[in-house]
Amino acid sequence: MKRPRLFLKTPSSARERAVFSHGEDGEAGDVGCIVDAAGCSQAEKEPLEARSSFQTDPDALIARVAELYAWIDTELEADPNLAGKCQGCGQCCNFEAYDHRLFVTTPELLYFQHRLNTRPVRTMTGGTCPYQEQNRCTIHTFRFAGCRIFCSHGCEEFQGALTERVLTRLKALCVEFELPYRYMDLKAALKMLEEKEWVQSIAH
Ligand code: SF4
Ligand code: SF4
Repeated sequence: MKRPRLFLKTPSSARERAVFSHGEDGEAGDVGCIVDAAGCSQAEKEPLEARSSFQTDPDALIARVAELYAWIDTELEADPNLAGKCQGCGQCCNFEAYDHRLFVTTPELLYFQHRLNTRPVRTMTGGTCPYQEQNRCTIHTFRFAGCRIFCSHGCEEFQGALTERVLTRLKALCVEFELPYRYMDLKAALKMLEEKEWVQSIAH
């Protein structure tokens, strides 16, 4: 099954990595995210520069991401046949076994960190999302856009088109809040959140 861009098949060659890092359409503004063997790119290891109106009004960004997620859910509910009905088996959250990866973006990570509040970030030590427990998502209410859109029983064209619309809106949020746009593998993103105190560097 062809995955929408927020959920992509695990790359197996340099060419595929390049495609995945910049988006299938080579669209300008997609920040490179070539993941090395350790699951973390050089770009991801560099601190993100804070230059943002997010600093002065972080709640506004949080509210906008919540709105975007609500909009995604509405779009999915409007076309249940195309969106697909998840059976809740949890298999697609085991990225290694399912042979795909989840990509997340800057606004989503800020929202995720906000919703975690004081809970520590879990890093991915195996092939499964660390937020899955007993085949269930423990952060269901604030799961990422890709988690909302991808369904193994859905229409891939529908999911792909919705993904592109969502990425456009996420990029627009980065422009509006003067945040660096990042589009990165969940494993690398969680590692960065844990190690670099990334949110704090942006917020202060
Ligand atoms: S989307 Fe498909 S694979 Fe993923 S949890 Fe739902 S039924 Fe299982
Ligand atoms: S955040 Fe939840 S839905 Fe998304 S991959 Fe992790 S466990 Fe699965």
